This record gives sequence, C-alpha cells and structure tokens, in this order.
Amino acid sequence: MVLPFKHEPFTDFNDDRNRKEFEAALELVKGDLGKEYPLVINGEKIFTDDKLVSVSPSNKEQVVGKVSKATKEHVDQAFESALEAFKTWKKWTPKERADVLYRAAGIIRRRKHEFSAWLVYDAGKPWNQADGDTAEGIDFLEYYARQMIELGQGKKLVDHEAEHNDYFYQPMGPGVTIPPWNFAFAIVAGTVAAPIVAGNPVLLKPSENTPVIAYKLVEVLEEAGLPKGVLNFVPGDPAEIGDYLVDHKDTHFINFTGSRATGTRIIERAAKVQEGQQFLKRVVAEMGGKDTIIVDQDADLDLAADAIVNSAFGFSGQKCSACSRAVIHKDVYDEVLEKSIELTKELTVGNPSEENFYMGAVVNQKQFEKIKDYIEIGKNEGELVYGGETDDSKGFFISPTIFKDLDPKARIMQEEIFGPVVGFTKAGDFDELLEIANNTEYGLTGAVISNNRKHLNRARHEFHVGNLYFNRGCTAAIVGYQPFGGFKMSGTDSKAGGPDYLQHFLEAKVVSETF
Ligand code: NAD
Repeated sequence: MVLPFKHEPFTDFNDDRNRKEFEAALELVKGDLGKEYPLVINGEKIFTDDKLVSVSPSNKEQVVGKVSKATKEHVDQAFESALEAFKTWKKWTPKERADVLYRAAGIIRRRKHEFSAWLVYDAGKPWNQADGDTAEGIDFLEYYARQMIELGQGKKLVDHEAEHNDYFYQPMGPGVTIPPWNFAFAIVAGTVAAPIVAGNPVLLKPSENTPVIAYKLVEVLEEAGLPKGVLNFVPGDPAEIGDYLVDHKDTHFINFTGSRATGTRIIERAAKVQEGQQFLKRVVAEMGGKDTIIVDQDADLDLAADAIVNSAFGFSGQKCSACSRAVIHKDVYDEVLEKSIELTKELTVGNPSEENFYMGAVVNQKQFEKIKDYIEIGKNEGELVYGGETDDSKGFFISPTIFKDLDPKARIMQEEIFGPVVGFTKAGDFDELLEIANNTEYGLTGAVISNNRKHLNRARHEFHVGNLYFNRGCTAAIVGYQPFGGFKMSGTDSKAGGPDYLQHFLEAKVVSETF
C-alpha cells in the first residue's frame, strides 16, 4: 500500500554517526571524480569527443566529470527516439508510470549521502544544503507519482439522463526540460519526473555547470525500469543547442527553470509556430527573484535577524528564494541590523568537501565576477557594514556581505545578484514597508516578521509574491507543503511540488456519449 505523501526527513549532522556516514560518502565519490559521461539517446550511451568539463566550485583544479556534448543532430535523434517511445509510454497506466518513480525514489533514498556528496563536489553545496537538495528530489518523485494516480481518475462532470460525459487527462507528446544548476538534483528530478509520469518523453538538457549529478538521475531512472527513449540526456552548450531544442517542431512543452533573460527568450521563441508543427507549445518558465523580508515595528527582532541571515546566506545566496533585501521599520532598524551582523560573524566559509562549513564557494568564475561587481556597486550606493571580501585563488569564495542605508530603488535593491549579498533599507510605517517590498519587477518569495495580526492580514493580500511566509525566513519551501512558483517576472507561477503542477503536461479531454 502506498502511504500518504510525507517529506523526506533531513539529516542531523550534529549526530556523529551521520557525520561519519557523510564523510564516507564524500570519500566514495572522490574516488569517482574526473570520469567521462555519455549522452543517452534511446537508451544508447554515446560518447562524443567534445566535452563539458565540470569543476568543483571550491577547488578549481578538481575535475568533477567530463560530460559529452550533444549536437543538433543528436537532438534530432533524441526527438525521433522520444516520438517512438511516446507510442507505448502513453499507454502505460498512471500507476505503472508512478511505480517507476517510486522505485527511483527508493534507489536514491538508499544511496542518499552519495547523491548529496556529488552535489558537494559538482555544485559546491555545504552538507545540509546538499542533503536538502537530495531530499527534495526524492520528494518530487514521491509526490508527482501520487498526483498522477489521482489525476488518472479524471474529474467528475454532470450527466444528462441519456448522456454520459467523461473528463480525463492524456499526455501531450515529447518535450524539453531545461533546469538551472542551483538545485542541481531536486529541480532536475522534479522537472523531469512530472512530464514523464504524465506520459510524455523528455529531452533533458542539464545546466552546463552541473551535468554530472544530472546524469546520476538518468542512471537511477533507467535502473528503476524507465523504458528507453522516454528520457534522453542531451547536455550541451546552450549557445549551440538551446534555441534548437526550444524551436524544434516536435517540442510540445518546455519545462524551464533559470534566469529571467533565458526564460523570456524561451517564451518568445516558443510562441512561433514552426513548419510542420501542429500544436501550440506550452512553456513553464520559473525564473529569478529579488526576495524581501520585511520587519515590522512590533516584531521578534532575534527571529527577524535569524530569518534574514539564514535566508540571505544559506548556499551563499544562490537560491531564487534567497533574501537579498531586508526592509525594516525605522524604530527597529539599528537593532535588527546589529543582530544580523553579529549572527553573520558566526558563519564559516570554506571547501565543503573538506569540512561541514556553513557556506562554500559560488558556482563559477562568471558568477564570482558578477557578485564582485555588485559589491563595488553596493559600496557606492550604500555603506558596507560586513564582509565584501572575495578570493578566487583556489575556489570562488565570497564572504557574506551586508550593506546598509540603501535607497529602495538602488541597483543592489532591484537586480538579482544571486550571491551572498543582502541590502538593508528602512521604512517609516507598514504602508511604506509593503510599498518597498513590492517595488521590484520580481514576485517570487517574501517574508513578514510581525506580531501585528492586522498587518499580517494586509500582507496576505498586498505583498505580491507567489510564496509568502510569516514569521520565518523566505527560503526552504518543501514539496507538497509549500508548492513553489512566482508572480511578475519571476515566472509562470507553475507551483512546482503542488496539486496543479502535472496539468501543465497534460491535455484534458471530454468525451460525451448519448444512449
Ligand atoms: P540560466 O538562465 O543561465 O540557465 C538555466 C538553463 O537554461 C541552463 O540549463 C542553461 O544551459 C539553459 N540555457 C541558457 N541559454 C539558453 C537558451 N538560449 N536556450 C535554451 N536554454 C538555455 O540560469 P542559471 O544561472 O542556471 O540559474 C540561476 C537562475 O535560475 C536564477 O535567476 C534563479 O533565480 C533562477 N531559479 C529560479 C527558480 C524558480 O523556481 N523560480 C529556481 C531555481 C533557480
């Protein structure tokens, strides 16, 4: 019997046994670093000469893996195999398809620390962040499997006396999944599993930063019994195959998560009907954020500082939900700032493959340079009160950084930095707190720290974000508990890990029969 969904528990690293097991997994994976990985098309493993080389963000010298690069011809072959696989995969019952996901979740659960260890090397994740990423991947598999079984029953319609009406869901056809690097396991697992369990074959183009851990998922799904051709692995240079995947006449949907720039480009291109294309493409595009925590006059200030610091600096601020703006009532501004600086002083930064540091390095040289530039911008726009140090001699390390007294319209307060940088600004009353919170083009997550029920009720309706939290930080959404997706330029609000998500990859059909 399948039990109701419950999220995968997180590992307690204060427990000595867990620490030892995690260290053993890091050693195990270390022995596997530097290997070569193929494309997978129709179940066939294809090694190409041209490779994506993934290096560890915390140690530039360490090659995590060399992954074959797909060309446009490979993409064509992958579509052929997906179209062929669709003929039979769509006929599997929802339960049969769900069973593949349950088995995959079981395989990952048994080797959980090993997957997390890959995330430590491939994405530079600290232990608890890597553990959370793997747990979320398991959750997506378990949750979407159950959702598909439920949707497989269709929906009830009204019947006339001599007429029966039937409403059911069917898959659409092959599509493309394009994930980012920052949840290099969870988002890959979720954005692949949902269309697949709905009956659609997928071409997966992982991020060029983290292709190795994505390959590990492909292996697991194969082991779990996914038929060949249902998941085709086509990593590559986005400049070479990105548009081609999106534009392809056989692409029925694009399941994208990443930056605003790439997402809007995909939406625009997918709108154009290609020669031979007989349907409209659907686009799920979950994009960037510029997330705010507001602190009210009447608030628990220790809670506020803790929420700001952990939401801003967990995984070095490289979360779409990371707090990069702290908007504080003027009466408590100095105290919240002071408490936040004190908490930040306790954070450790270092190579997470060597020790369980709070923060590792940022993902690559490009991000390192971008964040460094923003730190310089911040010094002109406000006052640097903590951090600001950068060091790329071994890996891409940036210390947790706090700016104060920023204008709400300053670039530091408006543009997505995607690094460990948070800006503080002050407001005179709750109206102004809300106004500043809403004054960016993004609308992903936000939090309100307040003990004023009237203010919380106002924020419920007036703080315009897809995921709003009261009296806690603005990160760490959990599948099935906090379905995730944003408004405005943060995306199409698909609510990943929620009850409506699978419908993005299904067509609803109505059949009416008279007797
Ligand atoms: P990105 O846009 O650079 O890349 C995302 C993916 O798109 C990668 O796989 C990349 O190879 C691919 N890509 C790039 N150009 C393409 C093109 N022209 N055509 C097709 N594919 C192309 O983003 P990133 O740096 O990998 O990820 C960070 C971004 O993702 C941040 O903006 C973050 O906020 C966002 N994000 C959003 C969510 C969410 O749920 N809203 C979750 C995680 C990350």
